[in-house]
Amino acid sequence: DLVLLTGASGFIAGHIVKQLFEKGYKVLGTVRSDAKGEFLKKQYPGFEYEIVTDISTPSAFDAVFQAHPDIKYVLHTASPFHFQGNDPEKELLIPAINGTKSALSAAHKYGVNVKKIVITSSFAAMVQYPFNLSDPNFVYTEEHWNNITYEEAKTDNVLGYFASKTFAERAAWDFLEAEKPKFTITTIQVPYVFGPPINDIGLKNLNTSNQLIQGVLSNSGELELPGEPLLYVDVRDVAATHITAMTNAGLDNKRCFSSTGVANNQLMLDTLRKVRPQYTEGLTNVGVPGSFDAANYVKFDNSESQKYLQLKYKTLEETIADTADRLKELAKAE
Ligand code: NDP
Repeated sequence: DLVLLTGASGFIAGHIVKQLFEKGYKVLGTVRSDAKGEFLKKQYPGFEYEIVTDISTPSAFDAVFQAHPDIKYVLHTASPFHFQGNDPEKELLIPAINGTKSALSAAHKYGVNVKKIVITSSFAAMVQYPFNLSDPNFVYTEEHWNNITYEEAKTDNVLGYFASKTFAERAAWDFLEAEKPKFTITTIQVPYVFGPPINDIGLKNLNTSNQLIQGVLSNSGELELPGEPLLYVDVRDVAATHITAMTNAGLDNKRCFSSTGVANNQLMLDTLRKVRPQYTEGLTNVGVPGSFDAANYVKFDNSESQKYLQLKYKTLEETIADTADRLKELAKAE
């Protein structure tokens, strides 16, 4: 079965490609340059790719579906994830929203064999604005939607990113309702994704979420402790979630919240010192070890998605150990 993976060069997509090949799928990726496509082809000789330089263009994916009528599943991961730039609307909101619309409309118009579309959404599309993860009585579920307005989001990069995921996901559900396509949809809400990057990047181009782990790893006194609370999940679990959602009819036309736990810099540093003490020798900025208590923060309940995923989520210890090893390897290669 042929799977179209948009944004195949990305951090999360790197693990999706790997797991798709391990499961025997054929993979067609969209990337923004030949160099990124060729890198993946070298790793996986069966990998095919098409160039889609900008997902903001409304017809961005038309030619891809026209050229590949055998596409059965679509995993739409492409979307800008950064907090840089001068124009959040142009650089974050529009590409995210138009990218989702263009993938769906192209599949609807030309994807004669498309059965299922899985869209990488985010906890950003659920979190209540203004953000506060320090309320121990709040329980997040798939029912929650970020209530930020488009106008509020246009003024700030962080708000712009959070809203880009919110409005892009809304666009998907609106499309389903308005167009009644013959395929089904699942949107995956993931919080901060950590894990070893296996796409072709150097530390200079490290994806946004792993920069937090890099910050803990390269802490030479400046790391903010205890730091802000966040929800996290391992990239390998995120990849597996996408692939399960692709074929598990129980998740058809549903949101699927995939999250492991809550953490902050203190917990991540404590964990790093435990699992890889050799990386933190001589460190004096250690905060108050052992002071993190999940009871002080928001809770989440993803039992509805877990019914179908049946995923044994990786522990923070596994995630931090594997990520730290890989980041050290990348540092050595620079
Ligand atoms: P990456 O930045 O590594 O991947 C993003 C991908 O989207 C890249 O392949 C990138 O291409 C592509 N892309 C971005 N903008 C455009 C554009 N305008 N036109 C075409 N392609 C574009 O990030 P992640 O792997 O972390 O993110 C993947 C998805 O997961 C995104 O939808 C993101 O919002 C979502 N997500 C990620 C989380 C995380 O913590 N990592 C948390 C929640 C959701 P290129 O490589 O050429 O830049």
